Amino acid sequence: MGDVDEQADQGAQVRARLAEVRARLAQAARAAGRDPAAITLVAVSKGQPLERIHAALEAGQRVFGENYVQEAQAHWLALRPRLPDLELHLVGALQTNKARDAVRLFDVIQTLDRPRLARVLAEELKRPEARTRRLLIEVNTGEEPQKAGVAPTELESFLRSCRDELGLPVTGLMAIPPAEEDVALHAALLVGLARRHGLREVSIGMSADFETAIAFGATIVRVGTAIFGERAPKPSAQPSSATSS
Ligand SMILES: *Cc1c(COP(=O)(O)O)cnc(C)c1O
Repeated sequence: MGDVDEQADQGAQVRARLAEVRARLAQAARAAGRDPAAITLVAVSKGQPLERIHAALEAGQRVFGENYVQEAQAHWLALRPRLPDLELHLVGALQTNKARDAVRLFDVIQTLDRPRLARVLAEELKRPEARTRRLLIEVNTGEEPQKAGVAPTELESFLRSCRDELGLPVTGLMAIPPAEEDVALHAALLVGLARRHGLREVSIGMSADFETAIAFGATIVRVGTAIFGERAPKPSAQPSSATSS
């Protein structure tokens, strides 16, 4: 098969997978007595070639997630002017020295996870070029020592300082549960925390478990490989999330 055929084929695959994920999402929502339209599908395009992103756009997908600021710029800066309804979410760890670029590019930052980042974002969001309108606090629901996110017991005071002292537009919570654990427990915990604090958005669930997350109340699911197929490994120029400042 030639390159052109191969790309056409990949595009068709992405469109078919996206349709299937949307159908599964709607089915899971209805089974839980929920309105499918109340659940946002974030198509996570990190590590994916532009052809596959174009295919998802052709199929009407407009909400995308990225993990790395630089890769996200490469994917989206040229496309954005033609896509007024595009909504970009940052779902990867944010280093404070990338905060300025991040608030210029992303509509939603899902990984607010520490006081220093909160303070930097509060400053950057005052700039006229800032486009970020919603922030989600990442909660370390599995209480894994090496993982980003605030501990469930620290959420209340962190949220108070973000919302009340810094005036940040926090609209929800996000979690990345431990890989081997059932997402259900983590989704239930996150939904309970969001309710208690009057937050409407709950971001949990990925390719392997988004239907379960919906059954337990997720309002945002982040799906990569089930839509786009296998991705390239992490870019090596990007420091790992463990070293974020
Ligand atoms: C990569 C990633 C996803 C998507 O994962 P898949 O298993 O490919 O669906 C979702 N959320 C976060 C935070 C990610 O880093």
